[in-house]
Amino acid sequence: MTMTPEEANEFQLLMKNRPHVVILGAGATIASIPDGDKNGKKSSVMMGFIEKLGMNQVIANTKLKTDSINLEDIYTELHERDDCENIRMLLDERIREYFSDLEIPDDPNIYDMLLLSLRKKDLIATFNWDPLLLQAYQRASKITKDLPLLTFLHGNVLVGYCRDHKYGGIIYAKCPECGRHFRPGRLLYPIRNKNYTEDPYIQDSWKAIRNNLKRAYLVTIFGYSAPKTDSEAISLMKEAWGTVDKRNLEDFEFIDIRPEEELVDNWKEFIHSHHYQIYSSFFESSLAQHPRRTTVELFDRTMECKFTKATHMFKPNMDWPKVQQLVDSLVMEEEKLGENEFLTVESA
Ligand SMILES: [Zn+2]
Repeated sequence: MTMTPEEANEFQLLMKNRPHVVILGAGATIASIPDGDKNGKKSSVMMGFIEKLGMNQVIANTKLKTDSINLEDIYTELHERDDCENIRMLLDERIREYFSDLEIPDDPNIYDMLLLSLRKKDLIATFNWDPLLLQAYQRASKITKDLPLLTFLHGNVLVGYCRDHKYGGIIYAKCPECGRHFRPGRLLYPIRNKNYTEDPYIQDSWKAIRNNLKRAYLVTIFGYSAPKTDSEAISLMKEAWGTVDKRNLEDFEFIDIRPEEELVDNWKEFIHSHHYQIYSSFFESSLAQHPRRTTVELFDRTMECKFTKATHMFKPNMDWPKVQQLVDSLVMEEEKLGENEFLTVESA
């Protein structure tokens, strides 16, 4: 198939403006605060979580049928039993308290750089309840307003919404229509049957990720282990992504410390032959190597056959002036673009 120069131009513009979708799991938060949060507090891993929440005794008193110590089994039973409503409410309250306490450290964090490495055509969807990404968003938005859309697939302790109007956002904000404070949104537990349509805010989050996955050119899975209890989530994403054989131009990227076989096995329905990369650190990923140019670089490398060179990179231990300088220079280039013009990356 040959294209006229105009058609080629249009194709390139379209491809480069397709979304980069990033999906975050607990591993991303753990990677973002390896030494704990601003006050040295570590993000929980699910092991020993009930104990950390001070819920051991309460759970012991409910005489659960399951003798599993797996949190997902415990949640599932609590969820299914009508006589456990008070315990569910208490658990919800404790989880909110626990995560609301987490504070992002003052120095530039992986979450700051992640947000700044994407543009408003892109999307970050997170399964995490912790507030770090939203705290980072508040800082990143002081550097540029051209930031990715955020969606919280299992709710978030910092997200609220107005029950009467279609507005949601950070929990301290007010509804632009009625002026009342946002009310906390639901937290979805890691249980087998979650109902993604019950809560209007979570339903909207799912709409956003499905729409963006349909059009995505690049997908990064960061620290998300796709557990069995999220099978419903995986099939919703799968449906939006479509079949592998229709996805031969797209790329898939993992930032994860787990072994390759395990990752590929979990995501085999999404990955086209060898169109995937695995990185053990954020700083090796396309996001840090080609910030704000991830889809541009993918196109230039694979369709234009350029040997692309990383020239503007996020690196570990960058200070705020360096981060600001880097982002400013990229944003300036973006703002200079005329209509129907597209960005390119440098060749080696
Ligand atoms: Zn309202």
